[in-house]
Amino acid sequence: MKFQDEYRDRGLVQGLAAAIADEARQLPEPVRLMEVCGTHTMAIAQFGLKSLLPEQVKLVSGPGCPVCVTPVSYIDHAIALSGLPDTVITTFGDLLRVPGSCSSLMAERAKGADVRIVYSALDAVKLATELPEKQVIFLGVGFETTTPTVAAAILAAQQQRLGNFSVLTSHKTMPGPMQALSADPELKIRGYLCPAHVSTVIGSDAYLPLAEKFGIPCVVTGFEPADLLQGVLMLVRQCRAGQARVENQYSRAVTRQGNTKAQELIRHLFEPADAVWRGLGVLPDSGLVLSEAYAAFDAARKFQIELPDASEPAGCRCGEVLTGRIAPADCPLFGTVCSPETPVGACMVSSEGSCSAAWRYGQ
Ligand code: SF4
Repeated sequence: MKFQDEYRDRGLVQGLAAAIADEARQLPEPVRLMEVCGTHTMAIAQFGLKSLLPEQVKLVSGPGCPVCVTPVSYIDHAIALSGLPDTVITTFGDLLRVPGSCSSLMAERAKGADVRIVYSALDAVKLATELPEKQVIFLGVGFETTTPTVAAAILAAQQQRLGNFSVLTSHKTMPGPMQALSADPELKIRGYLCPAHVSTVIGSDAYLPLAEKFGIPCVVTGFEPADLLQGVLMLVRQCRAGQARVENQYSRAVTRQGNTKAQELIRHLFEPADAVWRGLGVLPDSGLVLSEAYAAFDAARKFQIELPDASEPAGCRCGEVLTGRIAPADCPLFGTVCSPETPVGACMVSSEGSCSAAWRYGQ
């Protein structure tokens, strides 16, 4: 198939749903499958795919939205940096509204802080060339898909000998949280729809240790309704057969090895480090920090500032939503005090957040 519409064909989608129902009837017990990609979460909600699944197959959302998993302490750090004189904070739009412990970047901007939305890290580098009298800080948040673009921006800044550009990094790597979730017996995850964008970079083989160690099937899956249902079907078939293999449904974009040039770029500038994930806490080696050779571009090292103790918004249950423990509607604040217009937690802010998806498209 070549065109998007073909992956949304009603007959194809209904056929896949029927095939899943057939397989599910032969399962010894119901299964919980998890998608770990914000774009998957949105597509599943947008196309109402959960309503096509039989009772024996439950699909839950995991920590696949980069803005949602970014901890409050990072937002507090960005807010503190925005208060420094002659400083411009540059960021993608979603982060602007994420609540920190006491404020948000949007609130700080309303009070006079210079916080600007950019569409790429290179836009922030360009701004730094245009504003030599200012310190331009880019908020580097995201998984392996975003990290190479930030690495390229840092190299561009280095080439231009820019002393006024730096990045506050909160880059994360994907298999780490899936391992942590797999090790939690309470969650009972029986299969993963693995993220598509991330897998274009890291490759499908990156999930082999996870499948082997925890005996959980993994299927790298595309974004269209037929992709997602086929991914679910592949997982259910493995569950029924008692298998735990890595399969690649999205072979039109993902290879076993991934994008080795992007991986090399990441390795060149970054090194693994422990990282804090909202809902999961500190996970060893699940983040990326700039190596010593690029320390001059690390805003955290460049601007040493006191940070307040971080605290989650009162009543927000994003951590439980992000680990599949509860559905967004189980949070008492969902749709009452928390909505996309007045978000209490990150999962309602980001366009890829589970709460935002549930609000926009219903349960
Ligand atoms: S509904 Fe709002 S407060 Fe509740 S978990 Fe989602 S984002 Fe947090």
